[in-house]
Amino acid sequence: MKTMNCSICPRKCNIDRSTKFGACGLDDGCYVARASLHMWEEPPISGTKGSGAIFFSNCNLRCTFCQNSGISRSIVGKRLDENQLASEMLRLMEAGAHNINFVSPTPHVKTIIKAIKLAKKNGFTIPIVYNTNGYETIKTLTALNGLIDIYLPDLKYVSPELSRRFSGAWDYFEYASKAVLEMWRQVGTLSLDNSGIAKRGLIIRHLLLPNCVDEARRVLDFISNELPKDTFISLMSQYVPMAEAASVPPLNRRITKREYERAVGYALNIGFRNIFIQRFSSQTLEYTPDFSVYSD
Ligand code: SF4
Repeated sequence: MKTMNCSICPRKCNIDRSTKFGACGLDDGCYVARASLHMWEEPPISGTKGSGAIFFSNCNLRCTFCQNSGISRSIVGKRLDENQLASEMLRLMEAGAHNINFVSPTPHVKTIIKAIKLAKKNGFTIPIVYNTNGYETIKTLTALNGLIDIYLPDLKYVSPELSRRFSGAWDYFEYASKAVLEMWRQVGTLSLDNSGIAKRGLIIRHLLLPNCVDEARRVLDFISNELPKDTFISLMSQYVPMAEAASVPPLNRRITKREYERAVGYALNIGFRNIFIQRFSSQTLEYTPDFSVYSD
């Protein structure tokens, strides 16, 4: 997969990233803002020792309410080639990580694919998590088939109006809906080892936004209609107004306890059995890593 005429994601910029920047703000480099053990993912991902989270710089979606805006809008961190990225994967495995967790990986997928193959030749054995905003093409996911053990996509919206307003992508659901089905086709329902650590499968995340319980219901209805009821979903309450969202109603407030309870109640009512919920007190910056530090 070349970045000449890049069409890695649905933005389909069709530019040569060695000479121009894409809508993701990236050239042809692979940039890592932080690579460290991370304890704040879902319990089967973080486990007791942490997930080996590799946070990539920039993002192809660029939501108004981005919770990682410190690294998603401009190039931050170290430029790594595939050998250096493979070394980081092995370093985190040696440090005890349960898995390697590629966070916002999409524009960097070309280097990621090479790094996974290199790391495996050098003794890499733990599961690989692809932690994405969901705005993916089937072509890119097909290139990852057999390399990714656990898909951890967001499913942010169904409504084109909301995805256009908050993420500049009216076609978000058109792509993300097909993407989660392809992910499920590749890895299936989440399976855990005897210690409750994820081995393989799909977890779909939905970050509840203020005044958006109806949108959460539409997202849950889609999953319920298209995938088995034992599909793992993660309903996140941790939204904090950040970046431009701090001045854009209704994004300029945290969600209410009542809103979160309504979304969780709906998921239970329509039959989901495997739901990760967050403490309502999770609406703090505790979930946002310190991006001024590359590694702890
Ligand atoms: S990865 Fe970046 S350059 Fe490539 S299509 Fe997506 S936004 Fe455009």
